[in-house]
Amino acid sequence: MSDATGLAEAMLGLDGFVVLGVREDPAELVITIETTADVVGCGSCGVRAQAHDRMPIQIRDLACFGRPTRLVWRKRRWRCREELCPVRTWTEMNPAVLARQLITWRAGLEACRQVGELARPVSTVAAEFGVCWWTVMNAVIDHGTRLVDHPDRVGPVTQLGVDETSFLAANRDHHTMYVSGLVDLSRHTMIDMFPGNSARDLRKWTSKADKAWLAGVEVVATDLTESYRSGLTPHLAHVTRVADPFHVVRVANRCLDKIRRRVQNETLGHRGRRDDPLFKIRKIMLTGAERLDDRGRERMLLGLRVGDPNDEVLGGWLAKESVRDLYLTAISDEAELLLDKVIAGCADDDVAEIRSLGKTLARWRPEILAYHDTRASNGPSEGLNLCVKKVKRCGHGFRRFEHYRLRVLLHTGGIDWPARPRPPRIRSRCSPHSNA
Ligand SMILES: [Zn+2]
Repeated sequence: MSDATGLAEAMLGLDGFVVLGVREDPAELVITIETTADVVGCGSCGVRAQAHDRMPIQIRDLACFGRPTRLVWRKRRWRCREELCPVRTWTEMNPAVLARQLITWRAGLEACRQVGELARPVSTVAAEFGVCWWTVMNAVIDHGTRLVDHPDRVGPVTQLGVDETSFLAANRDHHTMYVSGLVDLSRHTMIDMFPGNSARDLRKWTSKADKAWLAGVEVVATDLTESYRSGLTPHLAHVTRVADPFHVVRVANRCLDKIRRRVQNETLGHRGRRDDPLFKIRKIMLTGAERLDDRGRERMLLGLRVGDPNDEVLGGWLAKESVRDLYLTAISDEAELLLDKVIAGCADDDVAEIRSLGKTLARWRPEILAYHDTRASNGPSEGLNLCVKKVKRCGHGFRRFEHYRLRVLLHTGGIDWPARPRPPRIRSRCSPHSNA
């Protein structure tokens, strides 16, 4: 073997292959390779096989020096010498290139990493590799399913979060379709997703889950929807249920918004416009009181004085702030006192929306108070939701739930990506770290 082919093989880095030639095309590098094995037994009878012929097949590999690479593998066909053997000829196999694949194993894994870990569009990755969309998507499915289904990916979970995200917008054929995500609240990773957001959907998922794993779950944090709460029985009936603080505050925010829109309509006879006093302060009102500066507070009071003749919106704002106060204290007794005050205050209110808020809070009283003992919050999963949205955006929307689930789990599911060797860094001479 000459030095030149030795160099070429070192660069190729595929065990068991030799490089026969490298050709440079304008858009790619073409590397012709073949395997070195010359003594092979028949898989059926074990008699030593005879070389029959070679068939070139074309495969994509990782890019080389920034150029897409095409491997031309002169794949050997073997023939059995034994005349009585039913096996006539067969082609050689290699774990680096799986049968009927257009892309090497390592390039497929890299494509899967680009799409999964980095949330890049399949079409972009496909263009870079010089293959079609489905070749990359199939690599994502093959490698990704293996990584997502790995038994070590989801360990024991004590605090579980359940939250919904919209999956498909409503159209002529269906309503808005939702999917639910299950989050490990301590590791901040997505465990799984299932279609739907009803009690039945959650029950269906838990009925398939491992019983010992379910028994290890101590706390489940959800939003204030009845479906998830009732979906926890029977398989997760033992857990402490927590109403997620983010969603509790959101219920109060929505109550305030509802009152503002109604008062707006009653006083001015139309929906909010840019210069309407209440419309102008709608965002200030949703900001926490402690985060308002003097100017903001004055603007809000002025808007309320002008646009809120019966102090109904003000009442909604005060109710919202008292709900937020629940989370200012870390002591559960204090939180209990505050919550009971809010519930009693809302029940006596003249405004229907506030009375309804009080009823919701009363219905969820144990779950709201459980936060102070468990500190379980979907806060981390709301952060995860941003990552989920990133996947959704990069896919320009999904039609198949299975693809969506796979890509979300690859991006946010705590995948143990195969380690890449980290080369020593070559430092810049004029970097601030050098002594020059
Ligand atoms: Zn044979």
